[in-house]
Amino acid sequence: MTTVGILGGGQLARMLILAGAPLGLRFVVMDPAADACAGQLAPLRVGDYRDEALLAEFATEVDVVTFDFENVPAASALWLSSNERIAVSPHPGALATVQDRLSEKTLFRKLDIPVPEFADIRSCDDLRAAVVRMGTPCILKTRRLGYDGKGQFRIRQPGDVNAAWQALAAQVEQAGLILEAFVPFQREVSVVAGRSRDGEFRAWPLTENWHVDGVLSASLAPASVPLETVELAYGYAKKLAEHLDYVGTFALELFHCDGRLLANEMAPRVHNSGHWTIEGAEISQFENHLRAVTGLPLGATRMRGYACMLNWIGAMPDAKAVLEAAGGHWHDYGKEPRAGRKVGHATMREDSPEALIQSLLKVADGLNRQAQVLPVVDALRRDYGF
Ligand code: AMP
Repeated sequence: MTTVGILGGGQLARMLILAGAPLGLRFVVMDPAADACAGQLAPLRVGDYRDEALLAEFATEVDVVTFDFENVPAASALWLSSNERIAVSPHPGALATVQDRLSEKTLFRKLDIPVPEFADIRSCDDLRAAVVRMGTPCILKTRRLGYDGKGQFRIRQPGDVNAAWQALAAQVEQAGLILEAFVPFQREVSVVAGRSRDGEFRAWPLTENWHVDGVLSASLAPASVPLETVELAYGYAKKLAEHLDYVGTFALELFHCDGRLLANEMAPRVHNSGHWTIEGAEISQFENHLRAVTGLPLGATRMRGYACMLNWIGAMPDAKAVLEAAGGHWHDYGKEPRAGRKVGHATMREDSPEALIQSLLKVADGLNRQAQVLPVVDALRRDYGF
């Protein structure tokens, strides 16, 4: 009996636990919050990730360790990996590299993965000079500890520099800052992929994503982009996984801009843009992650039809319109409602793009969520010529 320890007890841990039950896996979760939603499904150890006494207790309970949250201190992952009995995946070195947007983008460049122009920012003078060099619009971001558009300031014109500096200057010491050129992308896509302990690499079909205020709102798979683009994206993901000797599922977020792909970031964990794989793929991102980190063979990543995932942010809507659809799947993470919080999602899966359009239109009407759903419907109509 293998017990998987998960650092971070949010919805990703929860969906890993759900996927791991048929494999006969057991789970223990660690999170600073006593109400972490994965704690509803598995034993939860509550405390700071840096608490060595708690880590030591956690270590006695688990055989492998993985993450639901990439900002777990790399030192805690390193501490656990010093225990020879425990396999920590992805390994702490990979985690540390991609936790920092500057080292991450520097690595992308080294591997010939194109990136938007970027600059390390240590002072307001650095920022001013970089904005002049790069031009506007551009985005000032924290290097570490940012996610879902948090810790970001959009500089729309040169006059915004002071406001951007005031908003994020306090982060210079603790998190560091990076300035990135704004990419006028046509689409945002992600490769969700996995690599096993013995180096096998498998990717799910490319996913197109829509964000609102930096937070994922909807995902559509497969993304309708030319085959060469898909292969380019897979090539970048594979190169990255091999370089990092990565084990597990990860996502590489890319901007598709004028026929080119530019890498935004790598998430060293299962990813929101891969939630559709639960119902839309032969084997989900969650199951393959568990297979990888426990040393089992990876499963097939082929799609079953066409899938669209809709995120529920803040509060759960009424389930009826989704549950009434033949291909509608409901996921409630068991969280208390709170502004900006990911509390659940739905995946609509159908056998054809036409059927997916019809199903999405019904959900949009039933839930009064036209603004969230219609961009996906428009993309399907444009891509498949309806
Ligand atoms: P991030 O936290 O870096 O994933 O950013 C969240 C979202 O903000 C992305 O998915 C994009 O929609 C947008 N964004 C971030 N960086 C850029 C950029 N350099 N150019 C254009 N949009 C961006």
